[in-house]
Amino acid sequence: MKPPEVDRAEALRRAIAARKARAAIKAAVSAGEISPLQVAMNAWQDRESAESSLRVRDLLLRIPGLGPVKVEQILAQLSIASSKRLGGLGRRQKAQFQEWASNLVAPVLNQDRPTTRGQLVVLAGPTAVGKGAVSSYIRDNYPNVLLSVSATTRTPRPGEVDGVSYRFVTDNEFDELEKSGQMLETAIVHNAYRYGTPRKPIEDALAAGKSVLLEIDLQGARAVKKAVSDAVLIFLLPPSWEELVRRLTSRGTEDASEQARRLETAKMELAAQGEFDYRVVNDDVARAASEVVQLMGLSSRIRRK
Ligand code: 5GP
Repeated sequence: MKPPEVDRAEALRRAIAARKARAAIKAAVSAGEISPLQVAMNAWQDRESAESSLRVRDLLLRIPGLGPVKVEQILAQLSIASSKRLGGLGRRQKAQFQEWASNLVAPVLNQDRPTTRGQLVVLAGPTAVGKGAVSSYIRDNYPNVLLSVSATTRTPRPGEVDGVSYRFVTDNEFDELEKSGQMLETAIVHNAYRYGTPRKPIEDALAAGKSVLLEIDLQGARAVKKAVSDAVLIFLLPPSWEELVRRLTSRGTEDASEQARRLETAKMELAAQGEFDYRVVNDDVARAASEVVQLMGLSSRIRRK
């Protein structure tokens, strides 16, 4: 039986929109604006996305330097049929594709930059999404990444160590750091305390070819992008809004009014995710940390325990 005319028109309209979206993704891959790894991550996060309906073969053909013969070899090596779409890959195929694509990230990110200079990467995201946990995991497991230590005027929480978690300073000391030009960026976060990224350790590390990770808020991410145009911005997402609220209320480090204020900030921050180069879902700290490090192009240097 034929579908009614109106359904056919709607289906056609949707098919055209999806084709256009896929063409835009392929063009962005060709231009090096998005990595194949990120396209795949987007596909696997959202089954309804244009990425999900993109054929793996079509994606590979858009990677600069890969021709049809090479693409067929790669598909065979990954045991992926030519007709397969990203959203239709099985678990094993996804894992193999992810490993293969992560090795492509470094050249994509590093284009137009002298190869000796390190990569500056900013990790931002809404409050309580787990930025601190992900960045601590990276500090403990990936010694080749330098984690910037921010200065702040807030008081230490239990377990926080001065000089490791933060440099805890007074308002006057913070003024002095700012006035003397020692800060790459500064911000007042949650309308409360002052936070800032010291400039010198970052410049030294980048010049020595070491990659640096900044775990800062949205204002800071924007300021860093302005100051360092080739900085890569990664947005850490919660698996859902409900999970974010649960994480914030269950950690018990803020009182009710502070929690409400931070949730307001989180809403605004989530709305800004489109400004970022990459999005990573923090469903599991070790997995999210590994994705961030892969996006930094440093996966091969993981410390084996
Ligand atoms: P917390 O007080 O919970 O450690 O951090 C509060 C917020 O401040 C977090 O969103 C964290 O990312 C952000 N933050 C930490 N250090 C800096 C920094 O140096 N600059 C900016 N702009 N934000 C920061």
